[in-house]
Parts: sequence; C-alpha cells; structure tokens
Amino acid sequence: MKREVVALNTGRATSDGAGVKLKRIFGGNNPRQFDPFLMLDHFSSDEAADYIGGFPAHPHRGFETVTYMLEGRMLHEDHLGNQGLLQNGDVQWMTAARGIIHSEMPQQEEGRMSGFQLWVNLPAKEKMKDPYYRDIPARDIPERTVDGVYYKLVAGELELAGETVRGAVVGLSIDPLYVDIHFSDDKSVELPVADGHTALVFVYQGSALVGEKAVVVEAGQVAVLSREGGVQITGGSGTRLLVLAGKPLNEPIVQYGPFVMNTPQEIDQAIQDYRDGVLTR
Ligand code: MN
Repeated sequence: MKREVVALNTGRATSDGAGVKLKRIFGGNNPRQFDPFLMLDHFSSDEAADYIGGFPAHPHRGFETVTYMLEGRMLHEDHLGNQGLLQNGDVQWMTAARGIIHSEMPQQEEGRMSGFQLWVNLPAKEKMKDPYYRDIPARDIPERTVDGVYYKLVAGELELAGETVRGAVVGLSIDPLYVDIHFSDDKSVELPVADGHTALVFVYQGSALVGEKAVVVEAGQVAVLSREGGVQITGGSGTRLLVLAGKPLNEPIVQYGPFVMNTPQEIDQAIQDYRDGVLTR
C-alpha cells in the first residue's frame, strides 16, 4: 500500500529575524496536517543583504529547532554558553523545551547561504524539560548511495539495500525521520513510514512525482501524504528533496511567535517569564 498526496502547499516569501529573506514552506496554517512538525523555512540566497542581519538574540519555548545548513556559515550562541558554527552540511538539533535564548548569525559577508530550519513540536509532558543542544557535523551524518540515489539520514532509521541505517538523531518520542534525497537520473524509490505517522515530501530542487497517483511536486512545494503505507517518490536528474515523518502528538497547539504550548495560559506564562528574565530558569 502506498500513501496518497492529500494536500500540496507552496512556500511563500517572507522575512524573519533581522530581515532575513526566506521561504516559509509551511507553518501557521492547518497545523494538524503537519503535526508533529510546526514550521519549515528554506533560506537560499547569493545576496548578503538577504541574510546578513541574521537572527539576533531571541527566545524559544515548547519545541525543538532543527537547522540544516547546505551552504554558508552560521554561528549559534545561547544563554547556556553553547557556541556552535554550522557550515556546509552540518545540522543543529536544539531542544528549547522550557526555554532557550539564542542568536543565529551569519559568519560571512558574501557568497551563498542556504539551508532549512524545521520546528518540531514537543509533547505536553516534555515542553518544560531542560533545554538541550547538539551540533552534528556533516561527517557524523550517515550517507548512502543506492542504485544512483543519494540519501543523507539526519534522523530516524531507513532500510537501504538490506542494511538498517541509523540516522544521526534517534530515540525521540515523536520518532522523526528526516532524510535528504538526491536523484541523478530518473528513479523511483519507496520509503517505509510507520502507519499513523505524518509524512511530508518537500522538493527544494527540480521536481518529483509523489504518492500512489504520482502527483507532480515542484521545487518550493511540500506534499502532505495520507497516513498509511509507504512513500513513493520518482525523481529525475537534479531532483533534491526532504522527506520528513513523525508520530503526530494530537495535542492542542497554541503558538505565539517563538513560544508553542498547549494552552493560552501557558503562552501568557511564557511571555511573562521572558519579560521577567526567568524563561530559562
Ligand atoms: Mn531561533
């Protein structure tokens, strides 16, 4: 059995931080469709003016941010004293949980900067746990090429050519799958995803045919799939895409900017804690 495409969302141009131009692929609308994922941003520019402002100090509470740099250099610094330079192919998986205040600033004044930031929700019982942060250098992220198709496994497990490949991040309660797939010519693949889990295919270069009915998904679009069966994808020369999957939380989502909780009262508390300087305590 194969999943069908049930919705197609086209990213829209916006800006965030101190004027960083990016495409919001999803986020805000129809949150249930994407559960446990909250938002996906794609930044990609050769123009320093589009990214140089970066993301000066700002808070988060209640979820995780996952930054995957394709090109460029970005420095993370947070209130815990963590510092991490993200560059070509590196990933940062940051669990804001109870609270983190950090900055994300470009370390270049010219050239290309591109990558993704995904927001992953936390279940109610984990929203107020201690923050946690890890930098994952590109060399520690498993890569395989099978039958001409390249896979980079950021999170989750994938059976590839008879081998169970474990991604850089495993063991989270939403059991995320995060894989970057590159096609070099016309090929079809089918990825197993646990029944009941949300599955998304975001094409960031070229185009792909996705799902049982081979729906065309163009660069800049994300396909939301039905919740049972494998994920069928046909790509061609130059197709690059992300497959994201995870267990839906099925809990209320109340978001106010960088705070994502379950009730309006918890959002008020987050705002108050931030004002009082105790968000991170
Ligand atoms: Mn941030």
